[in-house]
Amino acid sequence: MATVIKPSYDAQRKHFLFTDEHLDLRESMKAWVLKELYPHRNEWEETTWPSEIMRRAGELGYLGLCFPEEYGGQGGDYFYSLVRAECMSYSGSGGTNMGFAVQTDMVLPPIHLLGTEEQKQHYLVPGIKGERIGCLCITEPGAGSDVAGIRTTARREGDEYVINGSKIFITNGARADFGIIVTKTDPDARHEGITLFVVDLRDEEGNPVPGFRVSRTLEKMGMHASDTAELAFEDMRVPADAVLGEVGKGFYHISWELQGERLVAAAGCYAGAERMFERTLEYAKEREAFGRPIGRFQAIRHKFAEMATKIEAAKQMVHTTAWRFANGEYPVREITMSKLFAARVCHEVADECVQILGGYGYMKEYEIERAFRDQRLNRIGAGTDEIMLDVIGRSYGL
Ligand SMILES: Cc1cc2nc3c(=O)[nH]c(=O)nc-3n(C[C@H](O)[C@H](O)[C@H](O)COP(=O)(O)OP(=O)(O)OC[C@H]3O[C@@H](n4cnc5c(N)ncnc54)[C@H](O)[C@@H]3O)c2cc1C
Repeated sequence: MATVIKPSYDAQRKHFLFTDEHLDLRESMKAWVLKELYPHRNEWEETTWPSEIMRRAGELGYLGLCFPEEYGGQGGDYFYSLVRAECMSYSGSGGTNMGFAVQTDMVLPPIHLLGTEEQKQHYLVPGIKGERIGCLCITEPGAGSDVAGIRTTARREGDEYVINGSKIFITNGARADFGIIVTKTDPDARHEGITLFVVDLRDEEGNPVPGFRVSRTLEKMGMHASDTAELAFEDMRVPADAVLGEVGKGFYHISWELQGERLVAAAGCYAGAERMFERTLEYAKEREAFGRPIGRFQAIRHKFAEMATKIEAAKQMVHTTAWRFANGEYPVREITMSKLFAARVCHEVADECVQILGGYGYMKEYEIERAFRDQRLNRIGAGTDEIMLDVIGRSYGL
């Protein structure tokens, strides 16, 4: 027996969440992302990601990891969503990752949970195959954080509803075949007046359905590989069975959806931070100043130590919270803390990585510049930092 036991930083360790099956998926999906997505990261900044790659991901089974086999999914547990988010971080393109996450973690889960059998066949099945792309329409020009303040209405007329209003900042909005639309069926009520609809936005030829149009696509600071649109609904008639879930319960439905979305967003944040850390570490070992690699200066070494510690804390927080979520708890406070903390860590890491790369950090060719712009959204989308703090504060009865 060895009498001197040394730390082994690279040793494989059994993880309390991830089984060998999760790890196998991580290897195969990561290899796919590096082979088929990563090489196109620069091109897609100009063109946005092509819809065919969603279909390709569907063929490979990556979109339906957590959905039942009867709908074309793999029947896996919630942890597969975290593995998928981690794997997507290797794409080098925050915009591509966001387009995918909208499909897998924002649009399809509520259809699976709340949809009728017909809705599942019509949207979930082709969504899992990647044949049809969805969007989630909550935010409006006049209401973002204050979801109960939305103005889009759905008025009942016989066997139909007539939808009027506009939505803004909608990811996948310019290309989506279908969408979940958050509306007011009782415009005088706040939370209790909200109803969700799941509707076709395009016909079989790909033309917008009557009453729907993409008003404009929006220019952004980052996430350029993702299309972001403003959408208009003008007397758009939908059948009454397009309601998703219960009439008047949409606020609670969407609050549930946001929990899964926030946890996956938090996983994307720690994974994105890890990728930036790795690239920057490589640089710090090679780049020399004053006769030695910059990583050997204590000031820089400590930056890595700080970043690694924060990333590890965010990761463990997300994993522990995901374990509780997957085991039947509804830990809204900790999900909120995870989203807030991981988004902040990702932002701090991005800033430090730019700093460590010096002038090169500011140049496009080193790609930390893009990661820095892309990650800024994490503190705004899926609930701003301020809203996260408010949810946490209120959970203590304040
Ligand atoms: C690139 C991108 C993609 C997006 N994709 C989608 C999508 O696919 N679908 C979708 O529906 N939405 C999407 N969004 C919208 C996003 O969710 C909202 O931008 C976000 O929820 C904030 O809403 P807002 O922009 O209206 O800001 P506001 O709600 O107007 O907030 C403005 C500021 O006020 C603060 N604030 C607001 N209320 C409070 C309060 N009570 N206490 C303290 N501070 C407060 C906020 O934190 C923020 O700092 C996207 C946004 C972007 C930028």
